[in-house]
Formats: sequence, C-alpha cells, structure tokens
Amino acid sequence: MLEDKDRIFKNLYNDGDINIISSKNRGDWIDTKKVISNGRNWIIDEIKKSELRGRGGAGFPTGLKWSFAPKEVGSRPHYLVINADESEPGTCKDRDILRFEPHKLIEGCLIASYAVQAHKCYIYIRGEYFNEGKILQKAINEAYENKLIGRNSSDTGWDLDIFIHYGAGAYICGEETALLESLEGNKGQPRLKPPFPALIGLYGCPTIINNVETIAVIPTILKKGSKWFSSIGKPKNTGTKIFCISGDVNYPCNVEEEMGIPLKELIETHAGGVIGGWENLQAVIPGGSSMPMLPKNICESINMDFDSLVENKSGLGTAGIIVINKDQDIIKCMARIARFYKHESCGQCTPCREGSGWMWRMLERMSKGEASREEIDMLMDVTKQIEGHTICAFGEGSAWPVQGLLRHFKKELIKRNNFNPLIKKNKNVPYLVDQHLLEKENA
Ligand code: SF4
Repeated sequence: MLEDKDRIFKNLYNDGDINIISSKNRGDWIDTKKVISNGRNWIIDEIKKSELRGRGGAGFPTGLKWSFAPKEVGSRPHYLVINADESEPGTCKDRDILRFEPHKLIEGCLIASYAVQAHKCYIYIRGEYFNEGKILQKAINEAYENKLIGRNSSDTGWDLDIFIHYGAGAYICGEETALLESLEGNKGQPRLKPPFPALIGLYGCPTIINNVETIAVIPTILKKGSKWFSSIGKPKNTGTKIFCISGDVNYPCNVEEEMGIPLKELIETHAGGVIGGWENLQAVIPGGSSMPMLPKNICESINMDFDSLVENKSGLGTAGIIVINKDQDIIKCMARIARFYKHESCGQCTPCREGSGWMWRMLERMSKGEASREEIDMLMDVTKQIEGHTICAFGEGSAWPVQGLLRHFKKELIKRNNFNPLIKKNKNVPYLVDQHLLEKENA
C-alpha cells in the first residue's frame, strides 16, 4: 500500500486550495528552473530510467516517446499536445487533476515542452469538462501572471504558451490522431499511421501527445528522482497510479495507489468493498470499458499493473475499475457497452462501422434469450474480424469487451438462449440487419 509520503497528488480530494500559493506549498513550481537547467537529454534520460508508462491507456514508455521528437528543430515548429479528452466509461482521474491539481499539469507542460523543444502547448479537453476547463484556464492565467510560463518561463530562458481547446463530445477524439484532426478544425477521424505524430503531427509538424496524468507526474519524478519512482511498483510497471473505482461498490472513488496493488485490496480498502460482499462479485472490468472483463476467481488474486493484466488477457487501460456484482445482468451490461461503441465508431473502417453494430444487435438478442446457438460462435468470429483490421485501436476497444464476455460467461449465454423456443426459428436469421433494433435506434 502506498505511503502518504510517496503520494504525488496531495490534493486529489480537494482538501486544500488550488491556487498558486497552496500549490507551491504542496511542492509545485519549486525547483522547476533547477530541473530544466539539467538539460533536455538529462530530462529524457531520467524519464526513461523511471520507466514511466503513459497513463492514457496504451502504456507506451514516455521517455521513449519523447526521444522520437527530432533532435534539432528544423523549418517546422514542434508542438506538445495534452490529451484531456477523458471519455472512457468508468474513468474520471484526469478530471480530478484538472480541477484539483491544475498546477501539477501546467508545470509538467513546461518541463515536457522544453524536453521536446515545443514553444506551444495545446490542452485538448473534452467539451463536457467545461467547469474543469475554466479552473484550468484560471490556473494558466495565474502561471502567466507569476511569470512561470510565457516569455522566459520560470526564468529558464524557454518561451512557452499554453492554449486550451474544447472538444465537442466525440469519444474517438481521445485517439491521438483524431484529436489532432479535431484540433486542426477537421472532422475527428483517426489518421493512418505511419507517419506517427512525433514526426508529422499537428499541422504536419513534429508533435508529442501525452495524457494529463502522465504529464502531471513528470515534475515530481524529476524532483524526487527516477530511482524513487522506479522503486514503487515492479520493473516496467513502476510508480503510482490513480485508480477510478465505480460500479457496485459501497464507496466509488478515485485513489492514488502503488502500481501493482492487488485488485481485491483496492476494492476492499478504498471503495468499501463490493455491494453485498465479496462473494456477491460477478466480474470486474479493470481498465475502462474497452478492456476485457475478469471473473471473480481471477479478481481474487490479480495485481493491477500493465503486465499482470495482459497475462490474464485483459489490460490496465485507463485503470477505470468497474465492479459488477451478481445483482447485474452481465449480458445486458455488455450489450450496453457494445451500443456505446457502435454509437461512437467514426465510421471510416468497414469492420468497425459494421461490426460494432452487428455485435450490439446480437448481444441485445442474446440478453433476451432470442439468439441461436450458432450466433454465440458467430459473435466471437465478428470480434476477430474487427480486431487488427482497422485504422485505430477503437476496433479492438469495441471487440475486446465482447471477447471477455465470451471467454468467461459463455455458459451464461448458452443457458439463457437454450431456454428459448425460438432457437430453431432463429437459426437462419439475417445477422447483418435486425430491422426491429435499427428502427428503435433511429427513433
Ligand atoms: Fe474509425 Fe473505428 Fe476505424 Fe477507428 S477503427 S478509424 S473509430 S472506424
């Protein structure tokens, strides 16, 4: 369990104030100049040594990502873009950083911008976070007034301007290249990669894109040292992490904990346990709605870090833990998630555009016991035809939760649908179109 002295986010519950004086008392904007005076190679090396992995979902090593930015600035300026489009169901960690710890993020923006040689930083924030954006803007203004950013930021000789840009509510704009398209004023649709944004990003210029939490932990890592950060957690899964615990728990909450903490301990200690007791647990989605769920027997002993979850065919994702107890209809839960992905698909790739709706319609039928036995295998087949065949990772994000259901609750699906006398009748239904559901959706 994380000791208080190792906590990075000391105002996660808004116990203190968010103004600059209180933030400085918590350690923000202290020694910023000293950190930057070590030079960008030192900064990138320290972040590499800390083994910090991106906190937005993909878990890519941050220092390595920064090292992809061109060493010299050529004719095109470099940009830093912060992804604050937090839209993954079950996730609300960046929201609390934006509203309760904004100066950690702004200080991180300065250090990261210096490291990747960007004089302009854009924070792309989801439109629904309007109030958080206002708080952040106030903090940015404070930082300008105190000469912490702007011309000769923090007396470092580095000029930095920070701008906030509001999104318009599309989940897909959290995908980094869709985010860039949206920032440029275009429809938010992911780009084909390569080229990667580090070389050709915003306005065709080298761009580094990082999540809010990733950037907000940078100043503390550099001030306390990479060794301190990497001593928490386990190799390649280091440091602290904000976990968001929601669903059927007694006290839904956000909590900063050691990477690799057992899932059971997280739920029991911080969220007041499962409603109805641990024995009433059915499954947990460990990393936001796009990650495959885990059944109770795995939840008993699994640790919450990138590698442990991958070993169990799931993922840490955004660390948005959604607890589902036995009072819930697990098939209906997954049908609802599938509907979300069908709704949010940007529509560029056929497997994602058609497959996401196809999965949703089959799951709706299955939840009512109206599907045929063959459809259960067909559902898995559809997920496999989406996975790995799309422009962006949204395809996997829509297919993996369904695979999780099939992997762990296939018996439940068979049981419910075997009871239905329509099984034979439904054997040859045209799977692509379910007119009834389509009409309902379009109504
Ligand atoms: Fe759009 Fe889906 Fe293709 Fe991503 S996978 S580009 S969301 S259609």
